[in-house]
Formats: sequence, C-alpha cells, structure tokens
Amino acid sequence: KANRLFHPDDTIIDVKGRKVGEGTISIMAGPCSVETEEQIVSIARSVKESGATFLRGGAFKPRTSPYAFQGLGYEGLDLLKIARKETGLPIVSELMSLEQLPAFEDVDIIQVGARNMQNFILLRELGKIDKPILLKRGMCATMKEFLMSAEYIMKEGNEKVILCERGIRTFETATRNTLDLSCVPVLKKKSHLPVIVDPSHGTGLSWTVEALSKAAIAVGADGVMVEVHNNPEEALCDGEQSITPAQFDKIMKTLKKYAEIE
Ligand code: PEP
Ligand code: MN
Repeated sequence: KANRLFHPDDTIIDVKGRKVGEGTISIMAGPCSVETEEQIVSIARSVKESGATFLRGGAFKPRTSPYAFQGLGYEGLDLLKIARKETGLPIVSELMSLEQLPAFEDVDIIQVGARNMQNFILLRELGKIDKPILLKRGMCATMKEFLMSAEYIMKEGNEKVILCERGIRTFETATRNTLDLSCVPVLKKKSHLPVIVDPSHGTGLSWTVEALSKAAIAVGADGVMVEVHNNPEEALCDGEQSITPAQFDKIMKTLKKYAEIE
C-alpha cells in the first residue's frame, strides 16, 4: 500500500485543513517535552507568529535513562491542547504504548518514535484508527524496513502515514546521529507518502538546524520538524539540539525564500 508502483499519485494528508504533502512545506515546531503551561503556550505563540504550521511537544518521553525526566504524561497532553486552543496550531505528540491511545483521540497527529518503529503490535493497532501517524525512522532501520513499518499501519486501513527521517546511527560521533538526507528522494521514489525531516534529532546540534532545514527542502522533503525551546539551557530534554524562538524566526524567514510554507 505504501508502494508508488500501485499508487502513482502523491498522498496528501489533510490535518485540520492543513495539507501535508501537497507541495507546500509543513513546519512542525515546539519543545522536545512539554514542561509547564507557560512554557508550551509561550513557545506555541512564538512559533505560530513565525509561521509554523504544527505544534510539536512530547508528553510521554522515551528516555535512554530511566532516571531522566520521563515527560508529564497525560497532563502534558492537556497542556498541549491548551496551547492549541490559544494558537489554533494542530498538535503532534508521541504515543509510546497502546494503553495511552484513548488519551490521544483528540491529538491531531500521533507520533511513533524511532524506538517504536518496529513495535509491530503498536503499528497494527494504529492502523485501525482514522488519524494521521507520523512514523519516525528507527535509528538502525534501513529504508526498506522503514517502509515495511508504514505498511504495517496501512495494511489495517489507516493510510494517513507521514514518514520522518530523524538521523541514523553510523560510526560518526561528531553529531548525535547522521541525518540521512538521501532517504528523502529514495522514499519519495519508492513510496507516495509525505516525507518530513527532523534535523534536531538528526544531528543533536542546534546550530546545524538552519543549514539542514534548507537542505531538507532542497532534496524534496514535504516538511521539517524542529525542536524549539524558550530556554534551551534549562530544557528538561534535548536542550543542546533546541533552537530559541528567535532563532526559529530567523530560520523561517530564510525558508520562506526557498519554499511556500503552509
Ligand atoms: C522526539 O521527537 O522528541 C523523539 C524522541 O524523537 P525520536 O523518536 O526520533 O528519537
Ligand atoms: Mn527530543
């Protein structure tokens, strides 16, 4: 079902009237984790002002260490909804386990994180609902495995899958991951699904985000996901890769020269 051979036209996914994959660029911006109401509402307001089209924010966080901040959970989802109400931006958040599904009914895009890309039971159940799924590439997944995971969701009937490249593991240590921009043209050739790029997790370094966002658009991505935090130094998660609202504003001004953002 994900194969372009059997579906030559690009898939366009309508999320509250915003069309992902229609030729314009979708910009999903927001903090790695929702921390407080003040934090998420203020970031949402600034990224909206700069032209973001979606608000991202983690409530359930897949952290490497069990002692690290694990996210606000259900409260985080409620705060995201407050930020959506304040700004009108549709929200994207990661679901880690099926028991959380009822709480995601009113989330606009459900994110499946890199660590769950091959959680086939989860994928199958997300295939049974009618909701856009942002599927992130596993850090050690080949493009074929990535597309097979999309297939798990689509096989059950949910064809609203957005693919997201977020960096893979290589021998390189200068960056957190290696952002594999070559996957954009390959995935778009093999499949009809929209592809977005997450340079923040791709490199783990905030100062690379502008260059790689431009590059993502140049190689044909349908959108970019970036982590934006009002105070990256104090962020409870992924501060090093988070840009400030002011930096985001500057990047948006640059991106608007290259593409239509919608
Ligand atoms: C995230 O988006 O904050 C995240 C945890 O992403 P990934 O699954 O790509 O590591
Ligand atoms: Mn993160």
